[in-house]
Amino acid sequence: MFPTSENQRETIVSVLVPVAVPMAYTYKVPAGLHVEPGTIVQVPLGPRQVLGAVWDGEPDAAINPKKLKTITRVFEQARPLQPDLRRFVEWVANWTLAPPGMVLRMVLRSEEALEDEPPITGVRWAEGRQPDRQTPARKKVLALVEDGMAWPKSGLAQAAGVSVSVIDGLLQQDVLQQVQLPAVPPAAKPDPNFAKVQLTLTQKEVSDGLRAAFDKGTSVSLIDGVTGSGKTEVYFEAIAEALERGKQALILLPEIALTAQFLRRFEQRFGTLPAEWHSEITPKKRGRVWRGVASGDVRVVIGARSALFLPFDDLGLIIVDEEHDAAFKQDDRVPYSARDMAVVRGHISRFPVILASATPSVESRVNAEYGRYARYLLPERASGAEMPQIRAIDMRREGPERGRWLAPGLLEAMKTALADGAQSLLFLNRRGYAPLTLCRTCGHRFQCRHCSAWLVEHRFQGRLVCHHCGHFEKMPETCPTCSSTQSLVACGPGVERIAEEVQSLIPEARTLILSSDLPGGAERMKREMKLVEEGEADIVIGTQLVAKGHNFPKMRLVGVVDADLGLAHGDPRASEKTFQLLAQVTGRAGRVTGGGLGFLQTYAPEHPVLKALMDQDQDAFYKAEIEARQVAGLPPFGRMAALIISGPDKPSAEGFARALARVAPPDRAVTVLGPAEAALAMVRGRHRYRLLLIAPRQFDLQAYLRHWLDVGPKPNRGLRVQLDIDPQHF
Ligand code: ADP
Ligand code: ZN
Ligand code: ZN
Repeated sequence: MFPTSENQRETIVSVLVPVAVPMAYTYKVPAGLHVEPGTIVQVPLGPRQVLGAVWDGEPDAAINPKKLKTITRVFEQARPLQPDLRRFVEWVANWTLAPPGMVLRMVLRSEEALEDEPPITGVRWAEGRQPDRQTPARKKVLALVEDGMAWPKSGLAQAAGVSVSVIDGLLQQDVLQQVQLPAVPPAAKPDPNFAKVQLTLTQKEVSDGLRAAFDKGTSVSLIDGVTGSGKTEVYFEAIAEALERGKQALILLPEIALTAQFLRRFEQRFGTLPAEWHSEITPKKRGRVWRGVASGDVRVVIGARSALFLPFDDLGLIIVDEEHDAAFKQDDRVPYSARDMAVVRGHISRFPVILASATPSVESRVNAEYGRYARYLLPERASGAEMPQIRAIDMRREGPERGRWLAPGLLEAMKTALADGAQSLLFLNRRGYAPLTLCRTCGHRFQCRHCSAWLVEHRFQGRLVCHHCGHFEKMPETCPTCSSTQSLVACGPGVERIAEEVQSLIPEARTLILSSDLPGGAERMKREMKLVEEGEADIVIGTQLVAKGHNFPKMRLVGVVDADLGLAHGDPRASEKTFQLLAQVTGRAGRVTGGGLGFLQTYAPEHPVLKALMDQDQDAFYKAEIEARQVAGLPPFGRMAALIISGPDKPSAEGFARALARVAPPDRAVTVLGPAEAALAMVRGRHRYRLLLIAPRQFDLQAYLRHWLDVGPKPNRGLRVQLDIDPQHF
């Protein structure tokens, strides 16, 4: 099937390499080696050796064969990437306008993933043989191997409680013999019927609908159900259906490192743990999951957005839980939405995709209303507990005294909860102690020297930290501008400062901060989440993390320290994001017991977003928001793209952005806004300008952009143009 150049009798093929080049390159196949589309290979690229995949499409037969380089290695053990995955890579590249190789790079993550681990040495009883002399230690070993099972040497020693030398002794006498064991024992298979749950009537209807979707091929379903309504329980039924049909399933979650609770739940339902895929797993484990997914040994993966690019053997279902979550959008390298691309992957391979949320994205709501997605409602909590009562605390009239952040009304309610043995959660989406530090004498403000952002005081660490680039400095004692001592003040609260206030006002409570940046990382977070779950803390102060999916049975009260924080942005998505966040976080209250209370500290209690929350009128919020988007032609009624132009200095970045804007192809359908300084005008020392494109829904924005960049000036001297189709912030 591959063309052979007549005189040389050599096969040539297209190989896609995981670098930012526009297309696949042509390579020679070494004699005697077999490759097919999808085969993973190693090829020379300039001075380097890189991984690549034999790609579809004709190789370039016009190139002088003498100039062609030869594939240096064929990964025979790795399964070739399947046609559907190759089509998916192409699709994502076309949509995001990223070079296909950069998308392939998300599939081919490491060389070590491609090779099977060498077998390990094991031992087994040489049947019928007995040692010359019995000892208690030898007896213990023999008791374990009697049934003929093979053991890893050290595992056997450990299980028998003897030293390895005992095993070595038995090997010398040929009582034990050496065998080769696979490095990775076959994974236990999730059992769809391990522990079925008795679904409520409404849940059953949803589950039946989701199961029936498998007969339709392509379909997208949106489970729109309040927190605690059983969305997870219901999509577990869809996973059971996939397993019964011999298909693999993928669950995408936004905060994967913190899902110990979710893993346990999966195990209770299916009798075994799913494979995990996210940035915190070790390279070795990563390799195992990658190979297990490709061989079909792994049946269910729970992963972060990058799991979408795993080479599944026979994927039959994707679930995107908390589908509204911004974490599904990757902003750098290849900017893509894992939620949207999950729908594409389902479409290409003709299997169902399920989106779940208590606060769906406006996009998904609209898709459901227009009949593009099936919509399933779960309006009640499975426990029967009613939804929390939410009230605003008007900070203009009921606010705290100067220098404090928690209103008396909120503190009283927290004390009452404490007296009843219930937990409270204070939510503030600001890590650290204070978001801004300034000098009272001269007004100096501490700013990051690489970014246009204030440095955030982290008092526990004695540092000022930039939350954009990670730059930090020791907290100074004197002002760097006027040298005053004791003139530096912390402005505004972060979670650390709120915790300090709680400790001083309610000292009898056990307080705990849940924030991702405290020392100890994800492991510590997991432990502390568990503590909270078990009731070992009374008052929890947390950032965004606590809003996500976690179930704290004893949590009764949720206080939002600054409900106006997200609404201040000029971003048209601010209302949606704030509504989702506040609904999610207040939804933690009274999930199991009922009687939940939510308090919103605000200077604008009449804001429609806060009113919709207090009135428990989600539909009113969506209706108003959808109408506003429709009138303004904003997504999902219009399409958008952003171009971020960045450079090492301000004039060249701005100049290039202007030059690019000047040659935007004229088209009545497209509005080009900018260039304007990006929301973060400087990040990591790079100055950023943004151009924003708005076009009607049916408009081919990608074609327009391709044409534009084709005719436009080319970035040089450290300048960069980054495209973002469907930007999260607009
Ligand atoms: P959601 O995903 O909508 O937040 P979950 O599926 O996590 O909801 O369900 C909330 C809680 O209610 C969980 O502890 C779950 O085990 C329990 N639950 C849900 N449905 C049922 C049911 N039919 N029978 C028993 N417990 C249920
Ligand atoms: Zn000063
Ligand atoms: Zn910085």
